[in-house]
Amino acid sequence: MNLNDTICAISTSLSSSAINIIRISGNNAIEIASKIVSGVNLSQVPSNSISHAYVENERGEKIDEILISLFRAPKSYTKEDVIEINTHGGSYVTTKVLELLLRNGCRLAEAGEFTKRAFLNGRIDLTEAESVMDMINAKTQASLSLANKGLSGDVKRLIDELRKSIEDLLLHITVNIDYPEYTDEVQISNKICVDTTTSLIDRINLIIEKAETMRIYKEGIKTVILGKPNVGKSSLLNAMLNENKAIVTSYGGTTRDTVEGDLNIGGIILHLIDTAGIRNTKNPIEKIGIEKSIEKLNEAELVLLVLDRTDFNETDKKLLDLTKDKNRIIILNKADLPQKIALDVPYLDVSALKKEGIKPLEDKIKEMFIKEELSSSDEGVISSSRHIALLKKSLESLNSALEGAKSGVFLDMIEIDLKDAYNTLGEITGEVAPDELINELFMNFCLGK
Ligand code: GDP
Repeated sequence: MNLNDTICAISTSLSSSAINIIRISGNNAIEIASKIVSGVNLSQVPSNSISHAYVENERGEKIDEILISLFRAPKSYTKEDVIEINTHGGSYVTTKVLELLLRNGCRLAEAGEFTKRAFLNGRIDLTEAESVMDMINAKTQASLSLANKGLSGDVKRLIDELRKSIEDLLLHITVNIDYPEYTDEVQISNKICVDTTTSLIDRINLIIEKAETMRIYKEGIKTVILGKPNVGKSSLLNAMLNENKAIVTSYGGTTRDTVEGDLNIGGIILHLIDTAGIRNTKNPIEKIGIEKSIEKLNEAELVLLVLDRTDFNETDKKLLDLTKDKNRIIILNKADLPQKIALDVPYLDVSALKKEGIKPLEDKIKEMFIKEELSSSDEGVISSSRHIALLKKSLESLNSALEGAKSGVFLDMIEIDLKDAYNTLGEITGEVAPDELINELFMNFCLGK
């Protein structure tokens, strides 16, 4: 990918909408756009302005009547000259305008390339770039508000703060190692190292704890509803749907024996994965369905195991045993009927038919996964698995530095661990980011973003 190219892409989804937007960014944006636009002199219009104009092809035929916005470098999304053309909606006309731009010197942007340029040109850091994507993918108020925090630089500020503490400590250590004769410089004692690393470790632990909760708010919980045929799985799902009146995405429903979809329970998304036997309980391939669900257990973060209080057999015992080490909730369904079994494990009484016990079930799910309420504190802004993994990695280095300081090893050994922690944290913001990481991250973006 050549970053000197001027790139263009359709930034809206190509359905028949009122308008579509084509975005152009790069050194030659104004020059190229001028070749296809009439009715406005782009080199004269002020930055951050919008003008009425026409797009014409090489033969001077009008293709579309447009609005064209101009953002001159460096005050633009990418810090380059950026032009946005509002075409009429409809894929034919929009594609024609795009083709004209390509013929006149633009290159088609890769997925996420506009945001990647914003990052590479130093307008945003990696966490802000990721938040752009989070914003697009947000499905709940909580995930939207997290994305907004990330976008306004809260994650970056927090990480920068942690890195600054490590940097200060490193600086003292370096001076102490290199110029032991500087007596007016703070003499780094093991005690200072121990105190500083301990407080960093405590703070990062707190951040991780909050981040795990935030991740649930943002990414949801992979959930399997498990149970033998006729225990009431589909009734339960319907009851939960009824309670929440919303399913975020529709059911996959290509195979009749499984259900996949997202269920929003009071702001938390349950991703239902391969829930067997729900669609058609009389289906002969139901058995295969259950086996499939069992396969999916490894992926599941939550198992809702449904049992029928009027009919308990070996299959149920087997399912109880299979899920004993999982994060599970046992639902003893058909609470409106007399109970014929005794269970020696915790369970919830539910009547899917009468829609009773649904709220306690949802409360239980929240209690299991939400350790912290969404808060406005500085620590509660991280939610991405990538960030959490790097925070954990930096903890390892800090713990090793702490052990070293406690046992009185040489300062330069501690220095190595501290530098590792410093660099690992830098990967979060992209300050220390290998090219592969950056490429991979932006590949997941949509076109035109
Ligand atoms: P699935 O095969 O596990 O999805 O089970 P279904 O949801 O299709 O339910 C099987 C049968 O049990 C149906 O006839 C439901 O009406 C009935 N059923 C489900 N939940 C309850 C309940 O809470 N009470 C009673 N009495 N019947 C229920």
